[in-house]
Amino acid sequence: MKSTGVVRKVDELGRIVLPIEIRKVLDIKQKDAIEIFTDNDRIILQKYEPACVFCSNTDDVIYFNGKRICAACIKQLKEQM
Ligand SMILES: [Zn+2]
Repeated sequence: MKSTGVVRKVDELGRIVLPIEIRKVLDIKQKDAIEIFTDNDRIILQKYEPACVFCSNTDDVIYFNGKRICAACIKQLKEQM
């Protein structure tokens, strides 16, 4: 994990602004969904992309080691082991 060097204050409604440079780099547009994770005392924000990383299937997708994978791809992986 690398620091962006950006420090932002939380406003009275609990909002922070994502810096435009970060939105450009990560291709985050207005109205895009952002998923919020916590890891002990950290808050992790990630563009919400519910599809499988291998086949783009959106059915039976689980979150594993930071990526999403569908049941069909898990089955294929198991068969190749
Ligand atoms: Zn898949």
